Parts: sequence; structure tokens; C-alpha cells
Amino acid sequence: MSSFINGCPPATDPPGTPLTFTGPGMPPWTLPLQSSRPSLKILNSLTKTKVDFKTLTGSNNVRWYMCGPTVYDASHMGHARTYLGFDIIRRILEGYFRYDVSLVMNITDIDDKIIKRSNERGIEFTELARHWEVEYLKDMEDLGVLKPDVMTRVSEFMPEITEYIERIIEKGFAYEANGSVYFDVNSFHGDERHCYCKLLPTGMGNAELLAEGEGVLSGASDFVNEKKASNDFALWKKSKEGEPSWDSPFGQGRPGWHIECSVMASDIFKKMGTEDGKMDIHSGGVDLKFPHHDNEMAQAEAESGCGQWVNYFVHAGHLHIKGFKMSKSLKNFITIQQALEQNSARQIRMCFLLHKYNDPMDYGDETMSHAVVTEGNFNKFFLNVKAVLRGEHKDDVAKWGEEETKLGNAIDECKESTHEALCDDFDTPKVMASLQGLVNATNLYLQAKDEQKVKPVVLVVRSAGVYVTRIFKVFGLIPEGAEIGFPLGGGEGGASKEDLLAPFLDAVLDFRSSIRLAARNKEFEELLKLCDGLRDDVLPGLGVQLEDKEGTKGVWKLANPEDIKRQKEQKELEVQRKASEKAAREKEAAEKEKLNLVPPSDFLRQLTLDDAKTLKYSKFGEDGMPTHNNEGEELNKNQMKKAKKEFEGQKKKYEKAIAKQQK
Ligand code: AMP
Ligand code: ZN
Repeated sequence: MSSFINGCPPATDPPGTPLTFTGPGMPPWTLPLQSSRPSLKILNSLTKTKVDFKTLTGSNNVRWYMCGPTVYDASHMGHARTYLGFDIIRRILEGYFRYDVSLVMNITDIDDKIIKRSNERGIEFTELARHWEVEYLKDMEDLGVLKPDVMTRVSEFMPEITEYIERIIEKGFAYEANGSVYFDVNSFHGDERHCYCKLLPTGMGNAELLAEGEGVLSGASDFVNEKKASNDFALWKKSKEGEPSWDSPFGQGRPGWHIECSVMASDIFKKMGTEDGKMDIHSGGVDLKFPHHDNEMAQAEAESGCGQWVNYFVHAGHLHIKGFKMSKSLKNFITIQQALEQNSARQIRMCFLLHKYNDPMDYGDETMSHAVVTEGNFNKFFLNVKAVLRGEHKDDVAKWGEEETKLGNAIDECKESTHEALCDDFDTPKVMASLQGLVNATNLYLQAKDEQKVKPVVLVVRSAGVYVTRIFKVFGLIPEGAEIGFPLGGGEGGASKEDLLAPFLDAVLDFRSSIRLAARNKEFEELLKLCDGLRDDVLPGLGVQLEDKEGTKGVWKLANPEDIKRQKEQKELEVQRKASEKAAREKEAAEKEKLNLVPPSDFLRQLTLDDAKTLKYSKFGEDGMPTHNNEGEELNKNQMKKAKKEFEGQKKKYEKAIAKQQK
């Protein structure tokens, strides 16, 4: 019996592939076989391993709570590391993996540090907190950090906080003592449903870290008589004279630090419909693991009875400066606004993208200049791609040869490796390296075409530019809207045609009048000078780069005038560096030549030891040969032999130099 169906050969898929019947006498339809592709894994501080990312309900919604700033002073680059770092992760989740993230963040506006600082300044603590809250929000905006979906202030959650504490007391996991309320660590940890210190088990009993978490106004003596166990921490602190306080069933006081996040996160996520106020992701800097996050989790699990309030705990690595954590207390901080005076928000973002979010990172000139150079390389690539795209429509249709196939494959490989790296706990440095690889492949392709004097295939170059742009948009390096490359300054739209054209038309008028004058006077050299001036002095200031190409009319590229200026400066620096290197080499050669002109006997008299000071020989014979060493001892046979060699060597050089001079 023929195995042909309706005249068609049978499907040749591997056995086991599901074949779907399509109709009598018709060949079956085959489902494409796929090898498995990586999916997102996140380094979870709860497991200390990279684990598959699955949402609470299986939907696209991601509930994410981030511990916000304590607003008592200017935010520094350490804060930027955490908030900008997580902004990048949020953008990847939304823009690449297509999740719908709901980000909730608090503002800690009641805190011992705020109270202390406002007392020192003689102002209301709310005034201080509101001031630094606005500054923080402005810093984030200037860095291009997306706004959270919900922001909460502790001071606006007092009823929720006290009720929450009452529920923990009712469950037997907290107790009142002298107007304060403490979490009963032993009762919680001893309960078989619960576990304390899931993030940092070694934190249990770490008195120093725990005391830091209790606040600068809480002297150790406050607790000694009140706490059942030294591990217990404050949920509610009785306020002393002069400290702000709120009414509560426990008396006048204020919340402890950790309780705010448990209450506000649970409240908002319950409102968003999750059971027990649970969440997918909880994040903060690595210093928050213990006691803050472990205590937050203990409180929430004590209050709700649930065993896993947070599914993924994610921690950002610290920003260090000269080996120390950047912090207020060490006074080694650079504020975000100071950093923005030195570098653009895009360069700072680039810098963080070049480091894994959870690795410790050092902030210094070198770190930033690496980011600036990387930005420059990508910018050059975008400009090259855009110059290629400026051809005619008919150029779009072109056949792929070997070189295009190679570039096309490089694009596909870059897409795959980008996907793998993003799935591997948001490995942005790997992505940047892979994109840089694609940029290099494109540059090589364009260079080859240039050398062969043939037009590049436009669409394959465009694909490379579009893909790099797409990933840069995901990372927040390029705003939505642009098709390829960094936007060209001037802010977001809005300028009239006249505003846009005016500087260019002014340049045309100036150029035309100078050209006419030079032509009338038949000053041909001046004409060429004017053309060079247009290219080197006038157009760069307008954001236009002209490039001469032998045998063609050349190309123009648009770029940010600041970028062009910086590139020009860098080029000039490079020229200067090369010139001074050349001068140094020439000086060295001249000195050598001068030395060659010293007669051999004089040469040996000048010869010094390694210290370049002590003369090597102290006495000489009539023949000019040395007889005694630097210490006045007579030379032995071996030393004499060596000296003779030195003499002969210089003699050769000397004779050659003299001969050269006489020529
Ligand atoms: P704070 O305002 O001190 O409560 O800190 C706000 C957030 O910034 C927390 O998540 C901290 O972990 C984080 N943070 C503070 N300093 C640094 C630093 N040097 N590097 C990274 N993150 C930091
Ligand atoms: Zn928190």
C-alpha cells in the first residue's frame, strides 16, 4: 500500500510529534517542534538561589513593594543605585517580559533621624520630611525613574498601624510594656507555623544590627526592663517629652520602623485583591535584609497567619566609594544632583546597566568614564546606521550576499543571547556586551562595504539599529517614539518649524555672503577655508556632523551638539596625547644621539651605577681604560673584560655618530 496521502509524501517529523488530522485524503498538519527556551529566573534572597518567576495568580499582574527613602537629607548615589537599579528591573519586567507591574513604595516620614535633625534645625519634623520628600521625587524624575503606582506616607497610616499591632498582640506574638509594644520573637519563632530570620538566619541575636533598626533616639536602657528577650523589637515606641506622638490604645507614641512596611504593603495589596496582602516581589538595598525585612515579614506573617507573605525578596548591591559603603554616616556621599552636574542621567543609567544590580559596585571616575565611552560607541553606531538609512526607497530592495547573511545571523544571535541574559536574573552587563558585539559586527560590515565601494544592504543595517534601540528603550536609555538611536536633544517636540530652521538658515546666509565675497575677490584658498569652517566650526554647534568621503559629496549626520563637542574635545586630547608622546620619543632619541657623541674614554668616566648617581669607576689608566671600581678597589680580570666591552660598544656608536655628522 502506498504511504502517500492524496499524492503527498507523509510527514517526516520525529516520532511522537502530534499530527493533526486535517481532512480525508489530506496530509496531516504538524505542530512545530520546539527546543526549550529559557524563561525568567530571579535570584531570591529567601532561597539564596535563582528560581523560576511565577506570579501569585498566574496572571500577568506583578505586585511589587519597595522600601522607600527616609526623608531627612538629600538622596545620594547609593540611593540611586537601589532605585535606578530597580527601575531598570521594573522596565525589563514590563517592557521585555510584558508583565503588568503594580509598584507600591512608601515614604518614611516618621523616623528618629528625622526627629533628631528637625530638632537640631528648630523646625517641625513634618516640614523637614516634606522638603526632602519633594527633593527625593525630583531626584528620581531627573534620573528618569518611573513613578510607582502607589506611594504612601507612614504619617497617614496611623489608624491602620495601631489596629495591625493590636491584631498581632491578640494572636500572642506581641506584648505591651510601659507604653511601648514589642514583637515577641521567641513566641513567633517557637510557633511551628512560623520562622524568624528567613532572610538572614545569622541575624538572630545580632544585637548591633537590631539596635540600629530600633532608631537613634532609643537608648539601650529604654528596653532593658521592658523587653522579654533581647531579640524582641519595637512595634510601637512610647514617645518621650518633645518627641512627636500619636494616640493609640497603648498610649502616646509612634510606630517602630519595620511595622510601617508590613501595614502599608498589606493594606494596598489587599485593596488590589491579593489574599492576606501577599505580594510577588519585595525589594530594597541589601542592608535592609536584617533586621528590617526579616522583621517586616515576621510581623506580616504573625498578623495574617500566612506562611509566605513575600514570594520573591530581591536585594540591590551596595554602592561603594573607595571601598566603603556610600552613606550619610560616613560622610562619603555624592548627592544625585552633584552627580548630575558631572554626567547625564543617561550616562548614570548606562553605568548601572554595566553592573549587575545585586553586585557591590564602586563609584569612581573610572566607572563613570567607562559608561561615557560606551555611550559614545553606541551613539557612533546609531549615527552610522542613520546615515545608511538616508538613501532612496529603491535602495531598500537588495539581495543578501554572504556578508549580509553573516550580519543577519549576528542579529539573531544577539537576540538569543539578550533573551538568555535577561532571563538569568536580569543580567544587564551581559546584554550590554552582547549588544556591543552586534555593534562591532555592523561596523565591520559597513567598513567592508566602504572598502569594496559598494552600497550596504540598507534593511539589514536597519534591523541591527532597530534592535539595539528596542532594548535601549526597554532599559530606559531611549524614550519611546524614536525609531533608531538617542534623541537629538532640544527636549520633547514643541518647537515651531521657524524655531527649528532659524539657526540653520542663519548659517546658510552667513556662509553665502562670505562665499560671494571671497569669489568676487578671487580668493580661492579662502573659499576652501570657508568650506572647512562650515564643517568644523559652524555645523557641529548646530548638531550636524559633516564627513568628507573621497570621491563623493560626503555625508551628514545629526547628533547632539554637546556630544559632538565632547567627541571633538576627546579627539583633540588624543591628538595632544600623541603629539606629546612623539615629542618625548624625539627627545629620548636626541639624548641618545648626544650620548653617542661622547668619546669612549669620557663615556666610561661618566658611567654610573644603577642609582644613576655613583660613578662606576674611580681611576683610569693612560689608555683611558678604568683600573679601579667605585669603591677604589682594583678591577679584577672579569671586571676589566666587562669594561673593555663597554669601551668597545661606545666606540662603535661614537664612530658611527661622528661619521653621520660628517656626512
Ligand atoms: P534609606 O533612605 O537610608 O532608608 O535608604 C533607602 C534605600 O536606599 C534602601 O533600600 C537602602 O538599602 C538603599 N541604600 C542606601 N545606601 C545605599 C548604598 N550605598 N548602596 C545601595 N543602596 C543604598
Ligand atoms: Zn520596608
